[in-house]
Parts: sequence; C-alpha cells; structure tokens
Amino acid sequence: MTLERIAKSRILIDQSRLLTLNAAWMMDTVGNKVARSEIAMIKVAAPEMACQVIDWAMQVFGGGGTNNDYFLGSAYATARLLRLADGPDEVHRNQIARLELRRHRGTDPAQTGGGAAVLTLREVEEIGAAGPGRRS
Ligand SMILES: Cc1cc2nc3c(=O)[nH]c(=O)nc-3n(C[C@H](O)[C@H](O)[C@H](O)COP(=O)(O)OP(=O)(O)OC[C@H]3O[C@@H](n4cnc5c(N)ncnc54)[C@H](O)[C@@H]3O)c2cc1C
Repeated sequence: MTLERIAKSRILIDQSRLLTLNAAWMMDTVGNKVARSEIAMIKVAAPEMACQVIDWAMQVFGGGGTNNDYFLGSAYATARLLRLADGPDEVHRNQIARLELRRHRGTDPAQTGGGAAVLTLREVEEIGAAGPGRRS
C-alpha cells in the first residue's frame, strides 16, 4: 500500500509539474489570455495533488502525522488553503469547462462535413473576431 502510494505520488507530482511547465511555456509564447485555461488547470491540479500526497504521508506516519512533531499538519493546511486562495476550485473548473466547450463549438463533423479537430483558444478568438459565418 505504501509503495503504491509513493509511486502514485511521484506520478501526480510529475503530472502537475509538466502541466505547470506547459502553462508557463504558453504564458511566455502566446500570452496569459490564451493560456487562461492552462493557468486555471494548474490552480486546481497542483493544490489537489499536494493535498493528496500530504494526506497519504500523514497516513503513513499514523497518529504522529497529525501532531506538531512533524510538519505534515501545517503542510496540509497550507496546501488546503490554496484550494481557496485566488478563487475556489469550483470557479476555476467552471472556467476550464466553459473554455473547453467553446473550443469544440462548431467542430461537429456532422455539421461541418470535415474533421472534428479541436480548436485552440487563439483560433476560437480569431473566428470570434472575424464574426459569424466567417469560418472556412
Ligand atoms: C490564504 C488565503 C489568501 C487569500 N489571498 C487573497 C488575495 O491575495 N487577494 C484576494 O483578493 N483574495 C484572497 N483570498 C480570498 C479568496 O480569493 C477567497 O477566499 C475565495 O475566492 C473564496 O471566497 P469566499 O471565501 O468568500 O468563499 P465563497 O465565495 O463564499 O465560496 C465558498 C464556497 O462556495 C463555492 N462557490 C463559490 N463561488 C462559486 C461559483 N462561482 N461556482 C461554484 N461554486 C462556488 C465553493 O465551493 C467555495 O469554496 C485569500 C483567501 C485565502 C484563504
């Protein structure tokens, strides 16, 4: 059980790290506005991951994991408050889902007769700026 949780922790940590690097890369290359979905994703993913990993560590330490002899209790409290600071998870997830739906708008092959490639947010915004009926 503990080995499995250590392995899962490594996977979760690296997933969050790569998601964060991707968001940072997008912020640098296409700007914060286009990268807003990726930014919102890391605001949800990283604190959730930290809470989960610290929770598993507390479990391994048993009752000791909950007292002040170890830093785990305060580490959990810090990770937990990040699920509220800068907006609750629910608000970020709402934004991610709305942007995700927007990326798929108008890509139904039954309507377009073409492929169902998902648009990037930049493409969505370019189409929006061009006005209705301007998508080729
Ligand atoms: C440590 C810490 C640091 C902070 N730093 C800052 C700061 O620097 N600057 C700043 O401006 N604010 C800061 N905040 C405030 C933080 O942004 C708010 O606590 C957060 O937005 C939640 O607002 P609220 O506490 O009023 O709770 P509420 O808005 O009452 O939300 C309570 C719960 O209701 C649900 N909820 C609320 N809105 C929605 C929604 N739209 N959709 C679905 N569910 C929803 C969520 O489950 C949420 O957790 C900080 C908070 C903390 C804890």
